[in-house]
Amino acid sequence: MRVRAYQGLLAAITTASAVTLPGTQATAVTSPAPEVTVASVASVGSPPVDVLSVKRHLEAFQRIAAANGGTRAAGTRGYDESADYVAGRLRAAGYRVTEQEFEFPFFRVIGTPKLARVSPGARSYAPQTDFVPMAYSGSGNVTAAVQPVDLVLPPSAAPGSTSGCEAADFAGFVRGNIALVQRGTCGFRVKAELAEAAGASGVIIFNEGQAGEGAADRRGPLNGSLGDTTTRVPVVGTTFAVGQELATPGSRATLSVTAEGDPHRKTRNVIAESPWGDSRRVVMLGSHLDSVPAGPGVNDNGSGSAAVLETALRAGGTPTRNRLRFAFWGAEELGLLGSQHYVAALSPGERARIRLYLNFDMIASPNFVYGIYDGDDSDHTGAGAGPAGSGEIEKLFETYYASVGQPYKGTDFTGRSDYGPFIAVDIPAGGLFTGAEGIKTAEEAATFGGEAGVAYDRCYHQACDTLANIDDRALAVNSGAIATAAAVYARSQILPGGTASAAPSRMNVAPAWRDAVSR
Ligand SMILES: [Zn+2]
Repeated sequence: MRVRAYQGLLAAITTASAVTLPGTQATAVTSPAPEVTVASVASVGSPPVDVLSVKRHLEAFQRIAAANGGTRAAGTRGYDESADYVAGRLRAAGYRVTEQEFEFPFFRVIGTPKLARVSPGARSYAPQTDFVPMAYSGSGNVTAAVQPVDLVLPPSAAPGSTSGCEAADFAGFVRGNIALVQRGTCGFRVKAELAEAAGASGVIIFNEGQAGEGAADRRGPLNGSLGDTTTRVPVVGTTFAVGQELATPGSRATLSVTAEGDPHRKTRNVIAESPWGDSRRVVMLGSHLDSVPAGPGVNDNGSGSAAVLETALRAGGTPTRNRLRFAFWGAEELGLLGSQHYVAALSPGERARIRLYLNFDMIASPNFVYGIYDGDDSDHTGAGAGPAGSGEIEKLFETYYASVGQPYKGTDFTGRSDYGPFIAVDIPAGGLFTGAEGIKTAEEAATFGGEAGVAYDRCYHQACDTLANIDDRALAVNSGAIATAAAVYARSQILPGGTASAAPSRMNVAPAWRDAVSR
């Protein structure tokens, strides 16, 4: 019944007369064919996607996280099961599904790491505030004497400590002790490896101690990486103050880190290609499927993934003019790794066939705004405009929100999500964003409701990003926006930034196959 409803919608779109979007593609046409627009989609009256089905995908993501240590982060079983879920549903709906594997550096801390002085005077230090396990730290739980290694205390005026940079620094080191070394001169990996070689049971690298502005300040908790292989013993970075305290002669400490690291772990993007439409005119929608290690990522980005997935499932049985392609990216949270890998692997020809990319990353934040990526830089903030056509995509979403009576605002193309690699190769892009850790202003609260002075998503990148962290109304409105954009661009003769295709589009209508998926 739902598939039929969507088919009915598309049939209505096909016969709808041209409705012009303000200042967009229709003005560029000399002899306009009936064009598909938001208004013609909206005139059908019901949203082309059912929010209860979107919610069911979110429940699946929540279940998967719960069964796998509360996370769906890249490189974990929670991610792999999320990818299996999405790929399975898409295959069943008739898509050609590719699982594109790539390597990425994986590291996570399991549980709460511990650093405490046992003597003189017991005192425990707070993770994140006082100390941070270094990326690629090994695991271990040790209590031992702390042995300072060639420290410069008080610190020199300018950075320059060579603590732990030479094997000679460890000449008198007692095997089994915890090495206390100071930031400076050589890399953290060098210090950690020399300490390990000298028999250290753990390594504490404290910040060097110089006051300064921003990155020049060397007093805060040292959050570093050991490069691209894991150490055998636990290694943490600390504030200068913690280092200074532990340098007190006779100090003993407990250091405990449980971590999992693999610099060459594999993960995958899930890419689904529609059998319908002109393969030279690809309309691509994407969302990242991975969460951060700290939580299940139901809003970030179960929400975008669920709505894109449901849009794909609804559209799967229906022929379109243009080719629909849906992407579920891996390892976004580690720096857009999946989308970067995908775009880098495209041949120039494949790249040219992608006519636009729509990105959906966090679409149901509990204290939401309806944000549209500012494709034309009309807000004049942050990054500049997107590639030609991005402004038209922004206008399509503006028209959608207006048609459903909702306010909206621009949100800068900051480069913080998977549209980044597409923009970088000049593919028009757009999408929606309901807000992350930023704070809602009083003006926004007046326009969108919700609470001023509070984060758009209070559970951003935390364990509490669960099903309870979803605003159902934003989810419904934005799921409708995504399905509408897919319907419009799948049927449009003129795509953003371009002109009409000269040849009449071919459609692969296969009635038997259609019946098979109309379950
Ligand atoms: Zn995200």
